[in-house]
Amino acid sequence: TPGIRPLIAGNWKMNGLSADIGELEAMAEAAFGGADALICVPATLMTRAHVALEGKLQLGGQDCHTAAAGAHTGDVSAEMLADAGATHVLVGHSERRTDHGETDGIVADKAEAAWRAGLTAVICIGETKAEREGGKTLSVLSRQIPGSVPKEAKAKNTVIAYEPVWAIGTGLTPTVEDVAEAHAHIRKELETLLGEEAGKMRILYGGSVKPGNATELLSIEHVDGALVGGASLKAVDFLAIAAAC
Ligand code: PEP
Repeated sequence: TPGIRPLIAGNWKMNGLSADIGELEAMAEAAFGGADALICVPATLMTRAHVALEGKLQLGGQDCHTAAAGAHTGDVSAEMLADAGATHVLVGHSERRTDHGETDGIVADKAEAAWRAGLTAVICIGETKAEREGGKTLSVLSRQIPGSVPKEAKAKNTVIAYEPVWAIGTGLTPTVEDVAEAHAHIRKELETLLGEEAGKMRILYGGSVKPGNATELLSIEHVDGALVGGASLKAVDFLAIAAAC
């Protein structure tokens, strides 16, 4: 989108041990000319990743609790992520929605928790395979956007990631026409919800983005970057995707 600098975001999911810090160091050695870059690591690696990335890439968490602190064993707050060096946090990733029963309302509350801690919320939305096959993709997005994106969202503190659930980790991607249609629809729904702020907000595509398809996907109108899972684990793949911007 004209005037929007792309963002290439990596999601390591529940992957990454000390031995993998070298991949982050290799990413930090590269130049990101055409895009901003972000890596969302597991909480256990946050502090080491903050050092390894040297501020060259931004650092994100993969989820946060809605509360700042308290009796929530095993959870991590947005304030803790910020304290460990994060600038971003994913909220409402489809794996969180599926594995942990997160609803649109919970996702919206987590976005507000992210802002409270000074983080940018990367709010994930997208239809399932059954919804796609039932022709419901656009209506699902029309429900998820006002449900998951608080009305106070600003382009500087919010990124939208459109991730068709059936495309995540499967090697399948929608056609260029389908991605274009979904992203244009998301922009329109954001305009209804947020007014002119919507025109500045990044809308990322996610779901089996690889070096081989990044150029095509990133050239689609209203695609302002990518959220990359599997192909973000190795610096060589992630850098190739970032170079496609
Ligand atoms: C993701 O984790 O959000 C994702 C899109 O995964 P993958 O790139 O592996 O499909």
